[in-house]
Amino acid sequence: MISVAFSVFFISFLLVTLLVQFWLGSRHIRHILQHRSQVPAQFAEKIPLAAHQKAADYTIAKTKLGLVLLIFNALVLIGFTLFGGLQWLSVTLVKITGPGMWYQISLIAAFAVISSLLELPFSYYSQFVLEQKFGFNKMTPGLFFGDLLKSTLLGAVIGLPLIWVVLTLMDKSGALWWLYAWLFWSGFQLLMMLIYPSVIAPLFNKFTPLEDDGLRARIEGLMQRVGFASKGLFVMDGSKRSAHGNAYFSGFGASKRIVFFDTLLSRLAPAEIEAVLAHELGHFKLKHIVKRMLVIFGMSLVFLGLLGYLKEQIWFYTGLGVEPMLLAKNDAMALILFMLSVPVFTFLFSPLTSISSRKHEFEADAFAAKHTDANDLVAALVKLYEDNASTLTPDPLHSAFYDSHPPATVRINKLLAASSAA
Ligand SMILES: [Zn+2]
Repeated sequence: MISVAFSVFFISFLLVTLLVQFWLGSRHIRHILQHRSQVPAQFAEKIPLAAHQKAADYTIAKTKLGLVLLIFNALVLIGFTLFGGLQWLSVTLVKITGPGMWYQISLIAAFAVISSLLELPFSYYSQFVLEQKFGFNKMTPGLFFGDLLKSTLLGAVIGLPLIWVVLTLMDKSGALWWLYAWLFWSGFQLLMMLIYPSVIAPLFNKFTPLEDDGLRARIEGLMQRVGFASKGLFVMDGSKRSAHGNAYFSGFGASKRIVFFDTLLSRLAPAEIEAVLAHELGHFKLKHIVKRMLVIFGMSLVFLGLLGYLKEQIWFYTGLGVEPMLLAKNDAMALILFMLSVPVFTFLFSPLTSISSRKHEFEADAFAAKHTDANDLVAALVKLYEDNASTLTPDPLHSAFYDSHPPATVRINKLLAASSAA
């Protein structure tokens, strides 16, 4: 009985989430079309109409693809759960592997492989049709499949032992397994952050020390002014895959480094690069990165605790189309069902994360305006919006749900106000 109620609850949430997502997507498309014929007033002198229209068309094409993907993913989700996909996979695998740890690990591995194969046509289309059409794709199919092979191998080398540890904890460490799993998972996350810049990122990209002496002196001056120590300044060959530009920090503690995409350096003037970096340093100095990590660690503790409860409830399995095994462990299945069902219940809360992320963006902008010239950041943002074909006229509600950054117009108006007040 509870099981049927849970199925109904799950399907209702899925439908509501889909309806909201479709409504937001169509509002977004309509809003952009309505503003397509004119560049917003405060950008009129900076961005040509053709670039504005390219951004509109690019955003609309991406949003439409997103809507198709929503339907497809919902069908896959129902196929795995209520239509018995996972049940079939589990029964088939247990016959081959027997009921031990191999069954559990192969269930997760098979689920991961099937999911990524199903998603593959979409990512291929996105890269070689959509991004290509708007001039952003720099990848060859060889590089695309090479990346896929590398990340699959990496996923297996890192992921399989990780899953083995988690499953062992679930099986052997008693009722508080979720607490131990959380400690292990958090430690693993920290370790990955530590080794990512020097071990994993170089598998995919080349990093070379920043050679431009003038720019380096400028950046070192900025770092000194705001009191920031770093292991180095690097340039990444982002142009190998995409024309989109970016700058980021990676690592923490002693392994911190600053990475610029070559695409960003080639487009921005030194003062603009300095302003962009000041914004990123703002995130660091204002402890946004630490706060974000604490939120993630806190949330994962809550979710693991919830999984600790759900894993013992038969309705959690049967409500999602799976008969729990009597002779084999159901831990791997619980992990998969949890991962599949949680986003259905959390989507409606996504504006909450966007709100705090936007607050951080405004604070980092204010930090940059204080330590560099706000006009340089405005100039850099205008160029980045134009180069990345990001729309200047998103639908406000769509933006509230999905965007980690405030709309360009809001951000730039605030910066201009700050610079004229100074
Ligand atoms: Zn930011």
